[in-house]
Amino acid sequence: MTNQPVQPIFIMSEGTQRSQGRTAQRNNILAAKLVAETVRTTLGPKGMDKMLVDTVGDVTVTNDGVTILEEMNIEHPAAKMLVEVAKTQENEVGDGTTTAVVLAGELLKQAETLLDQEVHPSVLARGFRIAAEKANEILEKMAEEIKIGDETVLKKIAQTAMNGRSAEANKEELSALVVKAVKAVIDVMDDEFSLDTDNIKIEKKVGGSVEDTELVEGIILDKERVHSGMPKFVDSAKIALIDSALEIKNTEIDAKIQITAPQQMQAFLEQEEKMLKAMVEKVAASGANVVFCQKGIDDVAQHYLAKKGIYAVRRVKKSDMEKLARATAAKIITNLDDLNDKDLGKAGIVEEVKVGDEMMTYVRECKKAKSVTILVRGGTEHVAAEIERSLHDAIGVVSSAIRSGKIVAGAGAAEMELASQLRRFANSLSGREQLAVASFADALEIIPRTLAENAGLDPIDVLAELKSAHNKKEKWAGINVFTGKVMNSWRTGILEPLTIKTQAVSSASDVAIMILRIDDVIASGEQPQQPGMPQGRSGAMMPPEM
Ligand code: ADP
Ligand code: MG
Repeated sequence: MTNQPVQPIFIMSEGTQRSQGRTAQRNNILAAKLVAETVRTTLGPKGMDKMLVDTVGDVTVTNDGVTILEEMNIEHPAAKMLVEVAKTQENEVGDGTTTAVVLAGELLKQAETLLDQEVHPSVLARGFRIAAEKANEILEKMAEEIKIGDETVLKKIAQTAMNGRSAEANKEELSALVVKAVKAVIDVMDDEFSLDTDNIKIEKKVGGSVEDTELVEGIILDKERVHSGMPKFVDSAKIALIDSALEIKNTEIDAKIQITAPQQMQAFLEQEEKMLKAMVEKVAASGANVVFCQKGIDDVAQHYLAKKGIYAVRRVKKSDMEKLARATAAKIITNLDDLNDKDLGKAGIVEEVKVGDEMMTYVRECKKAKSVTILVRGGTEHVAAEIERSLHDAIGVVSSAIRSGKIVAGAGAAEMELASQLRRFANSLSGREQLAVASFADALEIIPRTLAENAGLDPIDVLAELKSAHNKKEKWAGINVFTGKVMNSWRTGILEPLTIKTQAVSSASDVAIMILRIDDVIASGEQPQQPGMPQGRSGAMMPPEM
């Protein structure tokens, strides 16, 4: 038996790469740390920007964690998991993406030290789980309540999200705009309210300067009126929203019309014209002086609409029709016979405006607009795009703050306070989990440390001062990145929604735990190329799912 030659057996296809145990773990941790390290330099008001160039040479200049990671086309599986952390943060809160990724990277770095001390990964994972739960509890208790009416506070929250971004130069005006927009789209029902940020439309037009960015209480459409004979400006607009075509329908069933004499042709055209005229009459009879049509408008109908002095726009996107309905309180009508004055929406003004070199339709001065538009202006495409991203973040934090009703102070204050309370909690534990919880607390300090480093300050001095302040129960002690001194972040107005921190803690710990538990990475070999498939880099392309 023993002397028989051993036949190797293959259970996986040729080319499969496998790494196990320590090697697998270390590689994953290294990849995740590299991702965190990449975005770390952008954190905070003194963080730097990144310039990303895609395969066709398009350039994005940004400071936004999730945008950077999405554009980077990361391939390593563990690194990709960190990108997911940023995406979750983006979807749930809208800001704090860099914070979440940096925290995840630091948790893994701390874990590595403990792994070196022969702490078993599953003990570590359990410890991190305990720590994350406790951390969220502490954060909840630490947070202060706010009300929807606290405009000054809401503006500060918006401004904190803009610090360090190109929007910072105009943060006073932009934050006011953001708060106004978010408050406009809140739906109040009895004691409850709902808030859907999709009702804030951001339109971007290159040209002008950032100061020209404006909030329209209503909708801006990237469309012009269909006929030059129509008015350019309509006062006290009464708006009909129609989602069917103002055209004679092509009959669904093929109908053959036999025309034998020229008069018949004439009669046929006249008949068609009559029907179109009748359609316009119905619109006019409802009292509408503006029509937004989701489908086409026949030339003849355009002519009659113009004659009646009605402003009309065609082929409006369905999503915009819905926003128009919310903004003007109009009802979307399919059958013209149903249209009456109760279905019409109202707006102070509907007008065609030249923005840059394009014509746009503004529906403005909607009383109680439940859907609003921010028109972003900026000298170049890159400037406008980065302003748009900052506004998006600011809208996210203001809405999160309103939704949860709780906020904390930033500039490292929340993280330092959390770390110090968590350390106290760790001391109450026994066994090896205590080590894991203490490491979790240490990891949280990466946020203030990075803020200090990015500001060119000595992180050791800053952290020591911060620690002593928090030991003296100064719970909102944070870093003044301009002077390097400790400040009261709350009083300075560096405010953030509680959810930005709880979400960062949850997703960072989830991903760290998941990565720690992996001890075997099996990567299947290259897929055989399918005929007709473009030749990609290995692993970069997946055959489309059928
Ligand atoms: P993220 O993608 O995580 O939002 P940012 O680059 O926006 O990354 O940085 C957010 C961090 O910057 C938060 O910790 C916040 O408290 C901090 N921060 C914002 N404004 C200031 C400020 N004026 N001074 C110090 N820290 C600040
Ligand atoms: Mg931010």
